[in-house]
Amino acid sequence: MIAVAKALKIIGREVRALPAERVAIEDAVGRVLAEDIVADSDMPPFDRSQMDGYAVRAADAKDAPAVLKLVGESAAGRGWKGRLKAGEAVRIMTGAPLPAGADSVQKIELTQETDGTVIINEPTAEGRFIVPKGKEVKKGKVVLRRGERLSASNIAVPAAFGYAKVKVSKRPRVAILATGTEIVPIENRPKPDQIRNSNSLMLASLCQAAGAEAVILPTVGDKLSELTAAIAAAAKTADVVITTGGVSVGKYDLTKEAIAGLEAEVIFEKVKLKPGKPTVFARLKKAFFFGLPGNPVSAAVTFHLFVRRALMRMQSASAIDLPSGFAVIDGEAKGTRERDSYLPASLATDANGRLLAVPLRWHGSSDFIGFASAEALVRIPAGTSLTSGEVCEVLFL
Ligand code: AMP
Ligand code: MG
Repeated sequence: MIAVAKALKIIGREVRALPAERVAIEDAVGRVLAEDIVADSDMPPFDRSQMDGYAVRAADAKDAPAVLKLVGESAAGRGWKGRLKAGEAVRIMTGAPLPAGADSVQKIELTQETDGTVIINEPTAEGRFIVPKGKEVKKGKVVLRRGERLSASNIAVPAAFGYAKVKVSKRPRVAILATGTEIVPIENRPKPDQIRNSNSLMLASLCQAAGAEAVILPTVGDKLSELTAAIAAAAKTADVVITTGGVSVGKYDLTKEAIAGLEAEVIFEKVKLKPGKPTVFARLKKAFFFGLPGNPVSAAVTFHLFVRRALMRMQSASAIDLPSGFAVIDGEAKGTRERDSYLPASLATDANGRLLAVPLRWHGSSDFIGFASAEALVRIPAGTSLTSGEVCEVLFL
């Protein structure tokens, strides 16, 4: 049985990066950049007005009200080509280039235009309401680094700098195989001794959120020959095979026997972790194999800790683990003697603005309904417990 930290280190070491590919930017959200994104121009590319109003020379309006001659208009996409002289103003719109010779903008609310002239009612400082060329970024600067994941919040960046195609890491292909004679499809009405397969869809969704492509395979029962054949077939095309169920010590827990028959190289098969002790990590020819416990909460926790890290490594992501931080625990949380525990919690803030981790009321590691409202996992190191008010480490889900 190995420590969680050791298991994480092993995964980080064993798993190699997949190659990169170029994809249309429209298909790139969720993918990890395999190239730096570089600004191909200054941003803004010209001195840009922040307001609808009048471009002026600040010196002309210092004794406002000042009457200036209106000599033209600068609109977004139709800049004024002339050069502003003393005593002149140009009507300007938000996003339009500042005319040469102007050094300030006065907003429309503080002006009055009457045929051919504009009255500037209040003085305006040099540089007022202007974003100078290159203020946000200079041409040639790296604006997103390789290893970052493209998302709804940052996709505008490569779009603004002309990356119609972007180089990203290939998506890991994951095959998901639920095992267990009791497991039936979601659409079935289970017999009294059957359980619907909730794991496969949960894991497929977690894989997708981690940037991988997941295929859900037909469930196999607790029968060695079928299990072995299904795992062997999955390992032929997938980069990662995930099974759930059958990794404990019961008579019908056959996963380890199945992979042994396939000459898997078992890297670890027991982790000092609660929930998720019997997690198996192995190499199966070119694929990696994760044998996760069947218990839905254990499967989720072991995915978050281990599988996620492997998928991120394959994509050369710079952040390979769930984001983590510290919170004040609001309630008691008991650890175990020799295993690190990861307890589900919701998050809140107290009146002083401190982040609180509130342990969920739940009925142990099979309670996936309670677990569904978890926003974080509280880490309780082996041999310790937390009393209310203590600072603890949390992983944000
Ligand atoms: P096992 O790891 O095979 O001992 O299974 C542990 C528990 O998880 C049992 O109660 C199983 O019925 C349940 N379980 C196993 N596989 C799944 C699944 N795919 N979906 C939902 N529950 C499952
Ligand atoms: Mg089972």
